[in-house]
Amino acid sequence: MRALLGLDDDTAVMIRQLACTEPGCPPLETVVAVLPMDGEARRWTLHRPADEITEDDLRTVLLTAQPN
Ligand SMILES: [Zn+2]
Repeated sequence: MRALLGLDDDTAVMIRQLACTEPGCPPLETVVAVLPMDGEARRWTLHRPADEITEDDLRTVLLTAQPN
């Protein structure tokens, strides 16, 4: 995560696994949040469990998806 986004140590990264209730989705989704000390928090939702997410998945979502 840090390497992908070029983050420094002052920026917190949170990864949480949540239940997803959207139809057609797996029951678990993973939310990745980046919280800089100064600046705006960004957050992405991946509709799959955290243990199925690879570094490639992260790279793809971080580089192509708008934070939500
Ligand atoms: Zn979902």
